[in-house]
Amino acid sequence: MRHRNDLPRNFASEEARIKVLNDQARPAADVAKILDEAQVPNILWGAMAGFLVGDWRCYNEDIQFLVLDHLIQTASNALFAAGFTPCTDPGCDVLKTVRNDYLIPPVHFHVQALYPEHDVLRLYPKSGQLWSLPDSFDFGTSPPAADDPHLMLSNDSRLPPYIPEGMSGPWTELYPIKILNRSSFTEAVLWLCFRDLDHANGLDTQWVDMLGSARKHPEGITLSPKFQAMWEEFTLPEAQLTRRRWEPVLELMKEMRSNNELPPPPRINWFGTVEGAERAGGWF
Ligand SMILES: [Zn+2]
Repeated sequence: MRHRNDLPRNFASEEARIKVLNDQARPAADVAKILDEAQVPNILWGAMAGFLVGDWRCYNEDIQFLVLDHLIQTASNALFAAGFTPCTDPGCDVLKTVRNDYLIPPVHFHVQALYPEHDVLRLYPKSGQLWSLPDSFDFGTSPPAADDPHLMLSNDSRLPPYIPEGMSGPWTELYPIKILNRSSFTEAVLWLCFRDLDHANGLDTQWVDMLGSARKHPEGITLSPKFQAMWEEFTLPEAQLTRRRWEPVLELMKEMRSNNELPPPPRINWFGTVEGAERAGGWF
């Protein structure tokens, strides 16, 4: 299994690259197919979705799917029927409330037996992470229309091609997985960043990481007017910056917080104690 600190990959050929990509993304494609067949609207989320946005990593991230809130159990049942066993260990690390960068998923599966190179599959309800999109936005049960403002498929030829140290390029040989397009992915992650940045819940680690996937390759990412000027400044080449890179982000975040545009952050304490969180500058 490859790890975070491994050297970047060099592929001997395009065929070798596609084989690595297929092996890495196949579990997500299998899950999407199972959920689609069970009529459970779903999208791939988290760092693996970020592979298509701008940061294909050489190590395997947890597989995260968002499904409609009321269909979490249906999704779990469909996966169980297909050979995935939900974890019922009350002492499992995934359920830790302290020093856990992820929200605790209502359902998760340890998938090493099926995919030796992969670890955990997490299912999350849509509402906890994509509240910024309209309620009517429900992923749907059929492929997204060509002009869908938010959704596309992982094999879509409009996705930017593979770049070494950048995006993976479309997953053309695998079952197509529903994803947010690169702009909607970025905007959804910004909302989450703005909600959780520097909060004691520690969830910002994941959002900043996902935002990094988009920031590395901002070409083709266009956000709504509220975010666009900030985004353009945030993604300027180093030489063109006139202030610290994160300043425009923090400025807009503060404005939106003071206008009560953000929901309250999940009340988890990553640090375990109030004193620990306060020492680290986390707010509640
Ligand atoms: Zn577990």
